[in-house]
Amino acid sequence: MAPQAVGRDRTTPAGYDVVIVGAGFSGLYMLHKVRQMGLSARVYEAGSGVGGTWFWNRYPGARVDIESQEYSYSFSPELEDEWQWTERYASQPELLRYLNHVADRFNLRGNIQLETRVTSAIFDERSDRWSIGTDRGEQITAKFCVMATGCLSVTKDPDFKGVESFKGPSYHTGRWPHEGVDFTGMQVGVIGTGSSAIQSIPMIAEQASHVTVFQRTPNFSVPAHNAPVDPGVVRDWREHRAQYRKEARQAGFGIRMLDQSERSVFDATPEEIKRTYEERWARGGFSLAGAFADIVVNKEANAIASAFVADKIRSIVKNPEIAEKLVPKTYPIVTKRLCIDTGYYATFNRDNVSLIDVAQNPIIEITPQGIRTRDAEYKVDAIVYAIGFDAMTGAVGKIDIQGRGGVKLKESWAEGPRTYLGLMVSGFPNLFLVTGPGSPSVLCNMALAIEQHVEWISGCIAYVNERQAGAIEATTAAQDAWVASVNEIADATLFPLANSWYIGANVPGKPRVFMPYIGGFPTYEQICNEVATKGYEGFALRSPARGS
Ligand code: FAD
Ligand code: NAP
Repeated sequence: MAPQAVGRDRTTPAGYDVVIVGAGFSGLYMLHKVRQMGLSARVYEAGSGVGGTWFWNRYPGARVDIESQEYSYSFSPELEDEWQWTERYASQPELLRYLNHVADRFNLRGNIQLETRVTSAIFDERSDRWSIGTDRGEQITAKFCVMATGCLSVTKDPDFKGVESFKGPSYHTGRWPHEGVDFTGMQVGVIGTGSSAIQSIPMIAEQASHVTVFQRTPNFSVPAHNAPVDPGVVRDWREHRAQYRKEARQAGFGIRMLDQSERSVFDATPEEIKRTYEERWARGGFSLAGAFADIVVNKEANAIASAFVADKIRSIVKNPEIAEKLVPKTYPIVTKRLCIDTGYYATFNRDNVSLIDVAQNPIIEITPQGIRTRDAEYKVDAIVYAIGFDAMTGAVGKIDIQGRGGVKLKESWAEGPRTYLGLMVSGFPNLFLVTGPGSPSVLCNMALAIEQHVEWISGCIAYVNERQAGAIEATTAAQDAWVASVNEIADATLFPLANSWYIGANVPGKPRVFMPYIGGFPTYEQICNEVATKGYEGFALRSPARGS
């Protein structure tokens, strides 16, 4: 198949080689790759700008939980050379500037259509093409369709009784107003204590007259020790970048700064354990999770880490009753994504912050004046819903995706998502998922996980085109074996013990299936590479359909 001029349509004006849904980290790189391959492509993005997560989540305090140097694209040395991060953990505005810079630098905007939501994607077996519909009434066809729709892009709507009756303003952290929010002089209620709340509460408390935090499950959080980027770090990265990027790819969670130890905690003395955890707490961020080898697989090993952080909470929070409420007791540390904070626990020492435990005493309704739990009504001027996302399957679930024989993806996934490698779904030819369920995705440095997926997908598209095949599809046998393996590996860890969004526990009625692959990024990448090297083992190629 002869390569085609960049940005030109191959078939009809409404036909592309590749349609990409979403213009975040994934969609932008995917577009760059397919354009480099000489394919025509169109990106559809629901938002009014590029950036995905970093376009939508503009709440105060939003920033990355992995050091900026690591949470960035590695595919272009020129991009790496010219972009200068200003903070150890980049803030949302800086990340958004970065992704806009990427869109400009690689001249991507011409192929991106903003404010357009893809509503359907239907595979036509007669032509081997996807027919894609948008909320603007467009119908476009493409040989390949890439869902770069994000794992955390569909916010969970508050489903409390009376939500609409509230007289004041309310905000979801994942859909924060672009112009920002001024809470000065206001009494603010924050519902939720996940990462978004843990980042935003300290900032809101500095502005509001009072903040009431409604906590159902406390979270483990460790200090970021954020600061302006140390010039020494910049020089060091410049000199050793290739090596550091390689080390990240070899690290279990794709995070070099985790500095994963191979040592069991049971081989260390109590003094060594204490010293190690203190040193990692002082270093900040995810490094605490890498202190010993057995933290995610052994309950006793995990309990030592959990107890260390619990003691830290008790030492920071002056009121022992509040401290006790903030200590997580119902799940092992790290089995939910560890929160990385700036001054979260100390915020509860402020006179203008109170904590309401809604585990035993749940929120029963939102009233015109505030939030009513079973025991009391709390009057507030504004409500912040930091209640999370319909994770991993939410965005693709909102699109009417129909594969071979008109089978709906939603129906295929009724009992939980099933994929091969988190990349493709049996029965849905030429449809790719970036960081789909069944891949390491959200358990990783996602920037790295995304690059690996985009590169694999590009290789697969090239393979199909070079062979002039009509379609490629995961076989049911390969998919079944992969799903079984993903579950088996998860069951060997402590992760299923937490009621997390990793198993869909946060969305009522969602099937409880552990969605990400937890066998580690290097193992996963190796499997993907081997599959490709062996001629896309586990995938079936089809000759072009007669109408194609
Ligand atoms: P997204 O950035 O979510 O982009 C997907 C885009 O697709 C969105 O813009 C959405 O509008 C669009 N879209 C979805 N459906 C449709 C449709 N039907 N039609 C058109 N457009 C559609 N990961 C980390 O590794 N480290 C972090 O520190 C970190 N922090 C995070 C903080 C927050 C607040 C959140 C919510 C997530 C965070 N993540 C983090 C995960 C983060 O989502 C990924 O790191 C990464 O940004 C995902 O990029 P993406 O392009 O795959 O998805
Ligand atoms: P989340 O982790 O799902 O947290 C949602 C919070 O809302 C939880 O505390 C949850 O309590 C609470 N909640 C939900 N429904 C509730 C109800 N009906 N009543 C009371 N409380 C309720 O969502 P998130 O904080 O937005 O984070 C999601 C993910 O995004 C993170 O895990 C992380 O991967 C990513 N993220 C990263 C960063 C970062 O540091 N860079 C920042 C934000 C987000 P329960 O736990 O009891 O359900």
